[in-house]
Amino acid sequence: MITDQKKFITGHSHLAETVKWLDAIIFSSNPDGSEYYFITEAVEKIIGITPDMIIQNPKVLLGFLLPEYVTLFRDFVAEVRKGNNKSIEYKIINARNEEVFLRHSAYPIFSEDRLVRVDGIIYDITREKTNSLLLQKSEERFRTLFETAEDLIFMLNSAGNFIMINTNGALSLEYSPNELLGRHFLELVDNKSKPEIAKSFQKILRTNKIETFEAELVTKYAKNIFFEINATSTKENGVIDSVLAIGRNITSRIRDREKYKELYNKLIEANRIISIERDRAKQKISVLEELNRLKNEFVSNVSHELRTPLASIIGFSETIHADQNLPEEMRIEFNSIILDEAKRLSRLINNVLEISQIEDGAIDLQKSQFNVVESLKSIIDASIPKSDEKEITLSINIADEEIAIFADRERIEQSIENVISNAIKFTPPKGRVTILAKKLFKEFELIISDTGIGIPKKDLPYVFQKFYKVSRPGDHTPGTGLGLVFVKNIIDLHKGLITVQSEEGKGTTVVIKLPLKNK
Ligand code: ATP
Ligand code: MG
Repeated sequence: MITDQKKFITGHSHLAETVKWLDAIIFSSNPDGSEYYFITEAVEKIIGITPDMIIQNPKVLLGFLLPEYVTLFRDFVAEVRKGNNKSIEYKIINARNEEVFLRHSAYPIFSEDRLVRVDGIIYDITREKTNSLLLQKSEERFRTLFETAEDLIFMLNSAGNFIMINTNGALSLEYSPNELLGRHFLELVDNKSKPEIAKSFQKILRTNKIETFEAELVTKYAKNIFFEINATSTKENGVIDSVLAIGRNITSRIRDREKYKELYNKLIEANRIISIERDRAKQKISVLEELNRLKNEFVSNVSHELRTPLASIIGFSETIHADQNLPEEMRIEFNSIILDEAKRLSRLINNVLEISQIEDGAIDLQKSQFNVVESLKSIIDASIPKSDEKEITLSINIADEEIAIFADRERIEQSIENVISNAIKFTPPKGRVTILAKKLFKEFELIISDTGIGIPKKDLPYVFQKFYKVSRPGDHTPGTGLGLVFVKNIIDLHKGLITVQSEEGKGTTVVIKLPLKNK
C-alpha cells in the first residue's frame, strides 16, 4: 500500500506539496477502514503519529478515541458504509496526551454501484470548541448576573422600545419581562420627567458616551419610583442601533434628599425664629433699660418735686418762727403758702402710692352715688387762681341738671383735676381752656380742650405710660409723668373710656366717658 500512496503523491507532486501544509487531515481508505490509501501529514500535527504508522496499522486511530465516543463512531462508520455522507465530532487524547476535538467527515465513493472506498477530512476543532464553550460559559455568567441583579437592566431599540429587560428589573416596575418587551420606554416615565429623558436618549443615540440621568418611572400600579440610569448606545456593524441601560432604584435616596431639604428649610426657619427671638429679647432688654432710665428719671423728678415744696415749707416756717413780730397779713400769707405746698406734696405722694396700689391690684373703689356736676364745679373753682395767673380763659359749658354717677368720688375728682391741671399747665399765657360736660344716654361725657402746646404725634401713644413726659427742649414744666397714668387706671377701673387727641402747637382735647351706673 505504501507504494500506492507514494505513487499517488509522486503522480501529483504539487498537490502533495499543498496538502502537506493543510491543517486538516485528508485521507482515503477502503470501506471498512482496514486499509489506508493515503493520509496527509497533518495527522502528525493533530494526532502525533506519522502517516506511515497509520498505513501500517490502520486500527491505531481508534485507540485514541475517548471511550464515550466509541458507539457514536461505530454508528458513523456503519452509516458511511451504507453509502451516506456523514460528519461527526468527537474527542481524542492524542499521542502527545493532549485533548483534541475533531470534526470527522466521510464521503463514500462508489464505482459501478459498488462502494470502493471512503474519502474523508478531519479537522482539529479544539480551539473553535473551547472558544464556543468559553463563550457559552461567559454568556451563562452574564445571564446569571443579568437575572440576579437587583438593578433594572434593559436594552431599547433605536426607536426606544424594550428589546430586553431583566426579570428583577421588570418586577421592580410591577411587570413581567414579557409585558414590557416591545413597549416604549417613555410609557413608563412620569410626565414631568418625559421631556428631559427624551432629550437624554437623543444624546445617547448621537454619541458613544455613557449618560447618567435621573428618571421618575411609574409602575404598573401607579407607584412612582426614582431611578438613576446609566445608559450607552450599542452598535451593530458600526451603526448605533440600540441603547443598553442600567437603572438603580434611588427612591429612598431621593426621599432622603427631599427630607433633608425639608429639614434644611425648617432649620432655616428655626434660625430665623431664633434671630427674631434674639431681636425681641434685645428689644425687651432695651425696653427694660428704658424703664430703668425712666425710673431713675422719676426718682430724680420726685426728689426735685419733693425738694421744692419742702424748701418753701421749711423756709416760710422758719421765717414765721424766727420773726415774732411778723405782720399779721404776712404770717397769714406765708401760712397759706405752706399749706399749698404741703397739699402739693401730699398729692404727689398720694399719686405715687395710688399708682403702685393700682398696679398691685390692691385698690378698693369706694363707690357712691354723687352729682358729678357739683364735683366739676368745685374743681374748676379751685383752678381759677392758676388760670388767672396765666390769664387763661376758662370756657365752661356744663349741663344745668344734676348728673348722678355711681363711682369712687374722690378718685374721679382727682382724675378730673389732673386733666384740667394739665390743660392749664401746658397752655401758654392768654390761652383758652374749654370744659364741656353733658349726660348722654347712659354715660357722662366730659371734654377738656385747650389751645396749648399740644403733644407731638410720636409721643401720643405713650402719654399713658408711667413716668412718660414729652421732652421739649428748654422746657422745665414741673411734673412726674404720673398724672395721666393715674387717670387712665381710674377710668378703666370704672369701665369708662379716655381718649386724647392733640396737634402739636395747636392744642389738646381729652375726652372722658363714664357710665352713669356702675356696679
Ligand atoms: P404729673 O401729672 O404727674 O404731675 P405730668 O403732667 O408731666 O406730671 P401727665 O399728666 O401724665 O404727666 O402727662 C404726661 C405728659 O403728657 C406730660 O408730661 C405732657 O408732656 C403731656 N401732656 C399731658 N396733657 C397735656 C396737654 N393738655 N397739653 C400738652 N401736653 C400734655
Ligand atoms: Mg399731669
